[in-house]
Amino acid sequence: MTTGKPVNLLDLNRKAMEDYFVSLGAKPFHGRNVLKWIHKHGVTDFDQMTDLSKKLRASLHMEAEVRLPKIVLEQPSLDGTVKWVMELANGQRIETVYLPDGNRNTVCVSSQVGCALNCSFCATARQGFNRNLTVGEIIGQVWHATRRMGKAPTNVVMMGMGEPLANFEPVVDAMDLMQDDLAYLLSKYRVTISTSGIVPNLYRLRKVSDVSLAVSLHAPDNELRNELVPINRKYPLEELIPACREFVRDDKRRKVTWEYVMLDGVNDSIAQARALIRLLEGTPSKINLIPFNPFPGTDYRTSPPERIEAFRQKLMRAGIMAMLRKTRGDDIDAACGQLVGKVQDRSGRTAVSRHQRQQQGLFS
Ligand code: SAH
Repeated sequence: MTTGKPVNLLDLNRKAMEDYFVSLGAKPFHGRNVLKWIHKHGVTDFDQMTDLSKKLRASLHMEAEVRLPKIVLEQPSLDGTVKWVMELANGQRIETVYLPDGNRNTVCVSSQVGCALNCSFCATARQGFNRNLTVGEIIGQVWHATRRMGKAPTNVVMMGMGEPLANFEPVVDAMDLMQDDLAYLLSKYRVTISTSGIVPNLYRLRKVSDVSLAVSLHAPDNELRNELVPINRKYPLEELIPACREFVRDDKRRKVTWEYVMLDGVNDSIAQARALIRLLEGTPSKINLIPFNPFPGTDYRTSPPERIEAFRQKLMRAGIMAMLRKTRGDDIDAACGQLVGKVQDRSGRTAVSRHQRQQQGLFS
């Protein structure tokens, strides 16, 4: 018998689950069975896992648990988007968004409580950063979405609150589970990580995971990007672009998706489109133009539709696939950059400080 905190089985990917069952004196396949019960069948009660022996169930009751985030609010939007607010053990809240679109059902998943990157046009940034999510808190969002909608998602995007590459291992393990055929069975083209560009972790990710890559670019030159996406001061474009090119190099089907939020009078001129074309030359690319989603207290405005279309046409004529991302769920504050959650924990601690950012090791 062991003492201490029970192991949350949601924190374990397949390998970790197999190892855990071996440590209990059982066999790796027992671990695989439990993985299937939890993620494929949505069963979290050990007594319903009927192919486990009584003895094994008894040790699970003693040592393990399946601890999910708790849904405290479910908000449906007029356009079919659903936003869930989920509460974590210590009272913090994160947000998860479900985006149905024809045959495609995408879940947009958060990776951190808040975010430390401080992008000037993002509402999450205003909340500051508190902590990284655990594997269980990340995959728990997909678990809930699957149960609430009555079917598994066809796509997952790591595009909710937080910077996924600043929470490396848990995000990688959770993305393993998304792709595992005993869990959510998503192909490597249907799991997308979105990053502002933590360059060393892009190189690391490529070695341990095979997923689609989206990068928050938002500006065609360092001067403007330093202002909009301050992590650019640490990892400027001349480092970011080659890292992204390398990421997709070995798979002819892959392209980098560049996210580009359209900010009125800031980054939406034809000269900037031209600079963008030059910047991306030689990198297999597609561009997602995102109309800026406003939030209280911001001075930015979204570019007028004609300007967005002119920008898009310029890119298309240069042979770059450019799409306008539909704004979804803005009536429930579920659109890109509008997710805020509750970054404070019960003790009332906010974590907006420079110190916290330094702890994350992002800005040195
Ligand atoms: N930190 C990761 C994940 C967030 S993804 C990243 O930066 O990629 C959320 C996407 O929405 C990013 O591309 C982000 O730049 C964009 N975004 C943030 N605020 C926005 C806003 N107010 N309007 C439109 N898009 C926004």
